[in-house]
Amino acid sequence: MTPAEMTERFFGEARRRMDLAPSIERLLIMPKREVRVQVAIERDDGSIATYLGFRVQHDNARGPMKGGLRYHPHVDDDEVRSLASLMTWKTAVVGLPYGGAKGGIQCDPTTLSTRELERITRKLVDEIHDVIGPDTDIPAPDMGTNAQTMAWIFDQYSKYHGHSPAVVTGKPVDLYGSLGRDAATGRGLQLVTEAALRDLGRDVVGARVIVQGFGNVGSHTARLLHGAGARIVAVGDVKGAIAKDDGLDVPALLAHVKSTGSVVGFPDTRSVAADELLVLDCDVLVPAALGGVLHRDNARHVRASLVVEGANGPTTPEADAVLHERGIVVVPDILANAGGVTVSYFEWVQNLQHLSWAEARVDDELQQRMAASYATVRDVAKSKGMSLRTAAFVVAIGRVGKATVMRGI
Ligand code: GLU
Repeated sequence: MTPAEMTERFFGEARRRMDLAPSIERLLIMPKREVRVQVAIERDDGSIATYLGFRVQHDNARGPMKGGLRYHPHVDDDEVRSLASLMTWKTAVVGLPYGGAKGGIQCDPTTLSTRELERITRKLVDEIHDVIGPDTDIPAPDMGTNAQTMAWIFDQYSKYHGHSPAVVTGKPVDLYGSLGRDAATGRGLQLVTEAALRDLGRDVVGARVIVQGFGNVGSHTARLLHGAGARIVAVGDVKGAIAKDDGLDVPALLAHVKSTGSVVGFPDTRSVAADELLVLDCDVLVPAALGGVLHRDNARHVRASLVVEGANGPTTPEADAVLHERGIVVVPDILANAGGVTVSYFEWVQNLQHLSWAEARVDDELQQRMAASYATVRDVAKSKGMSLRTAAFVVAIGRVGKATVMRGI
């Protein structure tokens, strides 16, 4: 099953529990626009390299389209289509006045120099600047991109359209970015983890957590949950995984990652195989790396009682069914990792109003929005006897469907 088919399957499960006309269903599934462009640059050695660039604009019934830009070798039209659709449901679940989009370049950023990354980013903007904009489609960071990438996009877009900081979010704080954006996805994950644990009659203090992925999302999640009293018993990144039963010293681990580039080799820990990481004993499992990591073959062996999806699409529909059957609660990506796009929204608002918020205000408003969104989804799940994922899709599809019908075709 491809990523887009997986997202459609989750959509379909929710739709079956709703009163939705088939014509509206088709309208909501099909992306509004898909752009595929050539991104050619001169490499540092003088050779020419050509990459594929994508931007899929899924839906704009509730507002300008919003979503990240991913630089990764696996990026293709199907994956971007799936991720764009997830953004539509994500912005709707947390009630942001946005639709959904996603983009990317099929490349391996680890093999490109900073100057080469700058060139492919500016080239992508040259190719798509006519279809993005502060009121139409607002990119942001995702896997393989960061605040520096967003700064280049802001600069390049402004060459065509005049000074436009609100065309992109996740910018550096010194260049129209928002305080609190960097940690926002991790903070949102921390908040929903605590809320879901409370609903299970558990406390975050002492909860044993595994985090897969130690990039922006995974590292902030581990840091914040550790700060809240959880025990981070295992973590992994692209190079390997480590475990320590009585809990990792996360601040020391962050320093280790900063100096060595990986969690591997952190003193006083045992190393763990990549596929073992997800099935080690724990209370909470946070997949915060690639999509499709929880699948038919390993879902039966997951030992967590709570899975909180930091990544987009980490659980296949087959695995989701197995986890549900086994009574394992899954907080779905479109709710769990929505902290990032929520603070992106705050950044956009600040840019449009030419002012900046204190970090405490950002964190406070994020906390309120995540708590309210979690409670809405949890209540729908409880009252209708469905999983949190199906409930999140029901809430989102209801909102997008309503906006679509009210606006008219
Ligand atoms: N890439 C992030 C996501 O998947 C953030 C998107 C945004 O801030 O627009 O939610």
